[in-house]
Amino acid sequence: MPLADYACHPDESRGRRFSEPAAPSRTEFARDRDRIVHSTAFRRLVYKTQVFLNHEGDLFRTRLTHSLEVAQLGRSIARTLKLNEDLVEAIALAHDLGHTPFGHAGQDALNTCVANHGGFEHNLQSLRVVDDLEERYPQYNGLNLSFETREGILKHCSRANAKRLEDLEPNGVAERFLENSKLRSPSLEAQLCNLADNIAYNAHDIDDGVRSGLLSLDQLNDCRLFESFRLETLQQYPQLTGRRLLFEAIRRMLSAQVYDVIAATTANIEQSHPKSVNDVRLDKPLVAFTEPMRLQSLELNRFLLANLYRHPQVMETTERAQNIVVELFKAYCNDPAQFQFDEKSATVSLYRAVADYIAGMTDRFAAREHERLTGKKVFMSDGMSDIAS
Ligand code: MG
Repeated sequence: MPLADYACHPDESRGRRFSEPAAPSRTEFARDRDRIVHSTAFRRLVYKTQVFLNHEGDLFRTRLTHSLEVAQLGRSIARTLKLNEDLVEAIALAHDLGHTPFGHAGQDALNTCVANHGGFEHNLQSLRVVDDLEERYPQYNGLNLSFETREGILKHCSRANAKRLEDLEPNGVAERFLENSKLRSPSLEAQLCNLADNIAYNAHDIDDGVRSGLLSLDQLNDCRLFESFRLETLQQYPQLTGRRLLFEAIRRMLSAQVYDVIAATTANIEQSHPKSVNDVRLDKPLVAFTEPMRLQSLELNRFLLANLYRHPQVMETTERAQNIVVELFKAYCNDPAQFQFDEKSATVSLYRAVADYIAGMTDRFAAREHERLTGKKVFMSDGMSDIAS
């Protein structure tokens, strides 16, 4: 299927930081996607928390399965809108590479640890992973991805960090976060990944929440978006209960959101009529829900925040996970030999090196390192033997 004019065309890419000859059989964005899939950081996602800690159960989403769901939703919408599917897939698979172990709890704790040394932002860390931290190629650090993939990965960025990035790479991926920038949006592929992320976690966190027993189907009556599809399902299958009712309601809810995004975005594109990705960058974001769906999605998000992410049981594990991160940070800073920090050859401060090292850890590796360094066993069911290297 030919791409629309407003899509990212691989032969018009703004290129890589280190130029390379074109691949014989793959487009530049397909090549980015392949590099991401082969990276070490990508394999670690399987043992990183989404909401439930990795060892709490085998069927909960991890960062890896979450990223695959984002890629699936993103690709199917991209195809209909004639956007670049390979680029959407590359951004979706890379968007969470910078997440710490233990989900947002780990990130918040790490951010507190380095608050006086530049802070920690997971979006920026995802970019750092693909730009600097992966060590796979003889010629350069990182994966040397295309501008468009990197632009999509950097979803948010503080102004201070944007300035720092812009100094290193003028008119680069951080330009749009600067105060006087004329750029208002990233590519449509990047915008789409952002929304697909939102659709994916809202849906799968209902599933994981009910599976864990922390959310009940009755409680979900309070959430209009889910409730409307539960009732619709029951109209067609009055006998349906339990799991199958839950799955069918979620499936319908996902479909409705996908079609809503396609309809609203098509209308926005018709109205703004961008002729190129540069037009897209100068415009307001065009990939969007309709207003009623936006409000219902926001309501679902708030419901999950109040009833799942802040559930006492989740908060309790969150607190323990945060202690692990804080104590690991202190232990490595006090004795850098514990993680092979070479002060003479280091290109970053000790604090940044420790933050990078902890951010790269899987949940279980962090728990084991914490036990090794402090003698404390925080989670009981970590029986695995492999390490995050
Ligand atoms: Mg995500």
